[in-house]
Formats: sequence, structure tokens, C-alpha cells
Amino acid sequence: MSLIVQKFGGSSVRDAQRIRNVAGIIAETYLEGNDVIVVLSAQGDTTDDLIAKAEEINPHASKREMDMLLSTGEQISVALCAMALEGMGLPCVSLAAWQVGIRSTGVHSDARIKRIDHERIQAELDQHRIVIVTGFQGVDRSGDVTTLGRGGSDTSAVALAAAFRAELCQIYTDVDGVYTTDPRIVPNARKLDEITYDEMLELASQGAQVLHNRSVELAKKFRVSLEVVSSLERKPGTKVKEVTKVEKTNIAGVAKDTSIARIALIGLQHNPGVAFQVFDLLSKHDINVDVILQSIGREDTKDITFTVHKKDLEEAEEILNTNKEALRFHHIEADEHIGKVSIVGAGLMSNCGVAAKMFEALYEAGINIQMINTSEIRVSVLLDEEDVNRAVKAIHAKFFDEI
Ligand code: ASP
Ligand code: MG
Repeated sequence: MSLIVQKFGGSSVRDAQRIRNVAGIIAETYLEGNDVIVVLSAQGDTTDDLIAKAEEINPHASKREMDMLLSTGEQISVALCAMALEGMGLPCVSLAAWQVGIRSTGVHSDARIKRIDHERIQAELDQHRIVIVTGFQGVDRSGDVTTLGRGGSDTSAVALAAAFRAELCQIYTDVDGVYTTDPRIVPNARKLDEITYDEMLELASQGAQVLHNRSVELAKKFRVSLEVVSSLERKPGTKVKEVTKVEKTNIAGVAKDTSIARIALIGLQHNPGVAFQVFDLLSKHDINVDVILQSIGREDTKDITFTVHKKDLEEAEEILNTNKEALRFHHIEADEHIGKVSIVGAGLMSNCGVAAKMFEALYEAGINIQMINTSEIRVSVLLDEEDVNRAVKAIHAKFFDEI
């Protein structure tokens, strides 16, 4: 008998019919003789609706109270799903994360799971009950509920799979797997049979929204076998694993991210310590910086250009301007209308032709590159926001349509 963790996303439990469908999948797995731990997200748009409700009452509500509110969405799902399974005559129990003992840090709205108590879930599994747990949340040292960040239920599922050494962690969603790019932009995007943890991690952090990126980090760390599957269609999904059979010369996928903005500090002194001062200041304000470029400007000055999340742009500009005298730059240029397109592939590092092929695709499409940034298995380019979708199409065609 094996233990399987099954996570169902918001669209998979959207309404009564979908919950019955999910109960059917769970029942099948259980009746095949497996132990099953289920993790659920809130139904449909519930989390967004709850945020809107809070804003109506107090747009500056504390993060603690927001977590109190948002964690209720998942509680509704687990109870309803348990009722559906009860209706089918199957033994089950729904549990909120605090009842299980999913211990988390106290950072409201962005907590991390620290450890998971075994007693309660194990006792239920020993009674042959299907255990249905609220995703997206934990309980901190003072007993307060904290949430794990949007999309965090994937992470709850992988953490449970790791804690209970599950044979498999299945992430059920409304698409049938991980695609080479967003099928809404490129209709002939292909479903991948498998992808490595590292590739998935890069894709998830470069804007592909299939999996919460911390869930992939955890899966890699604890070697959890992960599978992304459709809850609506019966067909094989995408397996996320350590190594795959993909040809080394090709890439796993193309991702885009339009949630970034670019800041350029023009006319900085060309002295040691300047970059340190700038980025130390931003990091002290919890502003994450992504792509960085330094170039020589006029008359012995230099320019430093970097990207931040759009939501941090205003604050970053404010902080830099407040410290203008200490940093001694001439002026700031900011651009909100940029985007990033990335290719990801495990074979990229050992094959420099891959990056050239990407640049060729952009050249042929007449798209100008503003900045380039790479990791071992990724090449990202910064572009005008309006070129982003065209770039994704051109690059995808170059790698997947040409022979
Ligand atoms: N319900 C939460 C959200 O909408 C968590 C999740 O779905 O994973 O972000
Ligand atoms: Mg999700």
C-alpha cells in the first residue's frame, strides 16, 4: 500500500459538480488500496473575493487579520469535499492546518512551513480515513494562522508529501500539464511529458504559473515525485523529476514576465562601493532586484540599471531619491513598460548555440533587446512590454517548429 498526496486547485473545486468530480478521483485512488492525503485550495475566485471584501471594510487591514480571513477559503473546500466523500460512503476527515500542526513562520501573508506534526494525520491514516487538509496555511509559534503566499497550496501538498514520505504528489489543475509556453499565446505549445526540478524552478520563477515556486524547491530538496495532471481529463500529465530524457540541444520552455519595471541610476560616481550602497539600501527595504547591468557613462561616471517588481517601483524610486545626496547620482529613469522573456533548458549551459538561436529569433522578428541575463540553465532578455508576446511566439517557433 502506498501513500499518495493529491492537491486540487481552485478551479478543480469551483462548484458542487467539480467537488463531486474531485471526490471521484480521490475515491478511485483510495479504493485501489492507497492511503490518501488530499490538499485543497479555496473554491474558484474565493481568495480574490475575500480580498475584495476586506478592501471594502478597510483597505489597510493588518496582515494578521487578512490571514484570518483568507485562510477560511480553504476551510470551506475541505469540509465540502469531505461531505462529498461521506456521501459516497467513504471514511474521511477534513482538517485545518492548525489542527494538523502544520508549523509555519510568523510572517503573515508570506509564511514558510517549518515542520509538520505527524500524530493527527497518522492516527487518521491508521484508521483508514482519507485525510483532507487545508492548503495555503500554517500555524505559527503563537498559535496564529499564517498564509503561505498566493498559490501556496502547492507548497502545502509537497511539504506533506515530504513529511509523510509519500510515493507520489499529484498536483491536479485545469490544464493537463506543463507546456513549452503559455498555450494562450502560442496555440501549438506542447505538453511536456517530463521536466527537471531545476527547469521547473526556473520556469516557475520566470512567470510560468503552473506551480508555486517554493513547492518545486521543496520537491527538489526532498526528492518528492511530483506530477502535474488535469482533474478534468483522464490523460497523462507532466512528471517533475531530477533528470529527464529530453534532447540536450533543445529547451524545456519559454516563459514571460510582464510584472517587472526597470530603474536606471544615471551619472553615479565611478568609485568602489557604489553598487554596494545602492543595493544594500534597497535590500534593507525588502525590495528584490532581478536583472542588473552596469555601464560606463560620460565623464568618468557610471550608470546602473536594474529591474524590480512593478509593485515595488514607486517605493524604490522614493528610497533612492531620498538618498540622492549620499548616493550622488545625477538622475533616475524609470520604465514600467518592459517585460522579460526567458528560455529554460537543462542542456543550455553546455551548448552556447542555444542562446544564439534565441537571439536570432528576436533579430528575425525585428525585436530589440534591452538587457540580457543568464543562469546555468536560463537565458532572459528584457524587452519593450509590447514586444513580449511576439517574442514568445518567435522564440517558440524557432525552437519547436523548425527542424
Ligand atoms: N487560495 C490561495 C490563492 O488563491 C492559495 C492557492 O490557491 O494555492 O492564492
Ligand atoms: Mg495554483
